[in-house]
Amino acid sequence: MNPKLSFHGGAGTVTGSRYLVETDAARFLVDAGMFQGLKKLRERNWEKPGFDPEALDFLLLTHAHIDHAGYLPRLVKDGFRSPIYCTPATQSLARLLLRDSARIQEEDAKYANRKGFSKHKPALPLYTTKDAIGALALMEPVEYGQWLDLAKGVRARFLNAGHILGAAMVEVHLEMGERTMRIVFSGDVGRYNVPLHSDPDPLPDCHFLVMESTYGDREHKSSSMEDQIRDALIDCLDRKGTALIPSFAVGRSQLVTLCLRQLIRAGRLPDVPIHIDSPMAVDATRIYSRHIQDLSLDESLTADGRSRLFPNNVKFHKSVAESKQLNRLPGPRIVISSSGMLTAGRVLHHLKRLLPDKRNLIMLVGYQAAGTRGRAMMEGKKTVRVHGKNISVEAPFISISGLSAHADQKELLRWVRSAGGSREQPDTIFVTHGEPRSSSALATLLQNKLGSRTFTPKLGQSFDLGELFDG
Ligand SMILES: [Zn+2]
Repeated sequence: MNPKLSFHGGAGTVTGSRYLVETDAARFLVDAGMFQGLKKLRERNWEKPGFDPEALDFLLLTHAHIDHAGYLPRLVKDGFRSPIYCTPATQSLARLLLRDSARIQEEDAKYANRKGFSKHKPALPLYTTKDAIGALALMEPVEYGQWLDLAKGVRARFLNAGHILGAAMVEVHLEMGERTMRIVFSGDVGRYNVPLHSDPDPLPDCHFLVMESTYGDREHKSSSMEDQIRDALIDCLDRKGTALIPSFAVGRSQLVTLCLRQLIRAGRLPDVPIHIDSPMAVDATRIYSRHIQDLSLDESLTADGRSRLFPNNVKFHKSVAESKQLNRLPGPRIVISSSGMLTAGRVLHHLKRLLPDKRNLIMLVGYQAAGTRGRAMMEGKKTVRVHGKNISVEAPFISISGLSAHADQKELLRWVRSAGGSREQPDTIFVTHGEPRSSSALATLLQNKLGSRTFTPKLGQSFDLGELFDG
C-alpha cells in the first residue's frame, strides 16, 4: 500500500498534535498531544482516537509540552506498549510534565466527585500517575542527528527545533522501491536570535513538510525581549514596588530570568532580588541547567565554562513555607510564579496581596486564553475574583507579547526557506497546529512565495502520500 498520513489532532487547532503514518512496514504516531482550551476541545481527549493504540509500532515525540506529549499516558491506559523515541532532554522534561498532568487529572476527578457535577459516577481521571509512569518507562532517548532504523525501509532522526529544551523536528525517510520519500514534521518551531534557546536547524531537503502555524498570521514585536522587559519594569522598581510576573514554568520562566539577569548585569535595571516561586519552575530550571550543553540551548549560556542560567540574586521557593516568606518582604523585588494565565497556583496568593497597591506591577508574558483571569485583566476589568473575594485592580499591569517560544510568520517562512539540497523547497506542505485563520494565512503565503502545494488538513483527514509523491 501507499504510505498514508492522517491528522488526528493539531488540525484546525493549536493543541492535540497526533499525526499517524502507515506504511506496509510500520504504523507510527508523531506526537500524542492532549487537546486543551475550550471545553469542546477538551472533550475530545475522552473520545476514542481514530487509531488503535495497541497496533502502533513506535512513537516519535518532538517535545515535552502537554499539547504534544500529554496524551501519552492515556495511550498507555488504552494498551499502547511500544517504544517512544525522544531526545534525552525531552525525556527529562516529560518526567516533570507528565506526572504533573496526571496529578491535575486526578485532582479534577476528585473535585468533580466532591461537587457531583460529572455525568459519570464516579468521575474518573483521564489518566493516573501510574499511567504517566507507564508512558515514561517506554521512552528511549536518542541524540539529535542520530539515525534510527525503525522498520524495514523506515528511518528517522531528530533535529533541533530551538523551541524549548530538547525540542526537535523529525525527519522521516520511507523507502519506496528505488526511491526514498522524505517527510519532515516541524514540531514547534522556535525563534531566531533570542536568548536561552538556539536557532532552529535548517529544514532538511524533503518532499513533504508537516508544519506548525501557531503564529502563522502574526509577527512578534521587533524590539528586543530585554528592552520590552526593562521598559515595563523600570518605573515599578523605581517606586519600590514588587513586580509580579505570572509565567509558564517550563521555558518561559527561565527565559524571563535570563533576560532579567542580563539587564541587571548591564546596569539597565537595579540589582533587585528575583524570586522564582513555583515548584514546577524550580524543577524545570534544574533540568535546564542539567542539560545546559544541549543543542537546543544557546551556546553563549556556557561560553565561559560556567552556567549563566542562575543569576546570583535569584532565590528559589519550592515549599509552601518558602513561598509564604515572600509575603513579608518589601519591594523593590521581582516575583516569578505560575500559572501563566492566572488560573491557579501560587501566583493567586501574590495577586491578592499585590493588586491593591499602586506601586506594584503585574507583567503578563504569555498568551492569555479566553475565559482566564489574565484575559479579564487585559480587557480592563477593575476587579478580579480570587479565592472567592473581589480584589480591586490598583496596580498597573502590562502584557508583553514578544516572549513567545514560537516562530512568527516571518520566521516560519525563513525556516522553510532554509531548506538546502537539490529540491530546495518541499513539494507539499501540510499546515497544521494553528487556529484556522493562522493556518490558512500561512498556507496562502507559502503557496505564493515558494510555489509549494499546501493543505490545511481537517481533523481525521487522511492523505495518500504515494499519489501526492507521483502527482
Ligand atoms: Zn511546544
